[in-house]
Amino acid sequence: MSVPPGSTIGIVGGGQLGRMLAMAAAQLGYRCHIYAPDEAPPAAEVSALFTRGAYDDEAALARFGAAVDVATYEFENIAAGPLSALAGQVALYPPRKALETAQDRLAEKQFVQRLGGRPAPFAVVDSRQDLETALGHIGVPAILKTRRFGYDGKGQARIMHSSDADAAWDAVQGSPSILEGFVEFEHEFSILLCRAGSGEIAIWDAPLNVHAEGILDTSIIPAPAVIRPAVEEATQLSRTIAEDLGHVGLLTLEFFATREGAIFNEMAPRVHNSGHWTIEGALSSQFENHVRAICGLPLGATDLVVPRVEMKNLIGADVDDWREILTDPSAHLHLYGKRHARPGRKMGHVTRLIGAGGH
Ligand code: AMP
Repeated sequence: MSVPPGSTIGIVGGGQLGRMLAMAAAQLGYRCHIYAPDEAPPAAEVSALFTRGAYDDEAALARFGAAVDVATYEFENIAAGPLSALAGQVALYPPRKALETAQDRLAEKQFVQRLGGRPAPFAVVDSRQDLETALGHIGVPAILKTRRFGYDGKGQARIMHSSDADAAWDAVQGSPSILEGFVEFEHEFSILLCRAGSGEIAIWDAPLNVHAEGILDTSIIPAPAVIRPAVEEATQLSRTIAEDLGHVGLLTLEFFATREGAIFNEMAPRVHNSGHWTIEGALSSQFENHVRAICGLPLGATDLVVPRVEMKNLIGADVDDWREILTDPSAHLHLYGKRHARPGRKMGHVTRLIGAGGH
């Protein structure tokens, strides 16, 4: 059943992902209603309606669900209970199984392993003693990560020597965690996939992603030829995962390219920073195809429009360079309208189209 243009799309979460989703939805004639706890979130500035509410306020989420024609999220740290209150009122995509799997690093890795994927070696850590045992199995270097609520390198601590274990345990504040072996990767890349309810799947060129301090810094498309076999392997796995989840909407999967092939890192059942380049760099953007998928419309083509695309995040004070960026005619500047630039805060991004038709 399709949700036609003119309908209202509910988006849980009010950050830049919601803002760019709302802009893509507007292009197709939809209105967006944002639900977020913040006072003036970036997504609400470009949307028809905004409800300010906490992510655990079941009554408010149920009212929000009753006021929209279809719902989605741009933020995956919503608990299962409040989510049911929303899903009881209106169709919510991506499906619950995708959200619940991606919310828990342990469930996610076990799920991917069951489907034939290869995560880094990992062990469950629920206590300081477990951490010692896990270090015995996995060795150093390793990374301790909280099972839930981590993003952009938050909720993580590197253990280079066994003497770092106390500090790492303090850093995760004793939360249920996993210890992951350190992957000696050559590159990082992601698979951006959109699946429609009909089963149709659209996949973009895989971006090569460069991180700085655990935060995405740059995406380069296409990824270099040396990682093509790893990308091919990851693409097959991603299709299998999307089918198994009965996914509807964007699904982003992050991988490490190693000499042994693709090692799965994590996935997000939503549009993703490593897909921002698709706005200008592909025939249809991740945001547009997500809207099409959740509204039951056919998906758009994902081909690159120029030979090479580069996306760079503007983090913290980088945003002060906006004037200079605008002097480059190949640069597409995106600012998220955030008032205060804090270190590590994503303030905007710039996409450069390079080659025929670009610069
Ligand atoms: P995550 O939040 O798990 O995606 O981690 C953020 C970044 O930390 C990744 O994109 C990698 O650059 C790095 N990282 C995370 N896990 C590992 C690992 N097991 N081995 C090596 N680097 C990692």
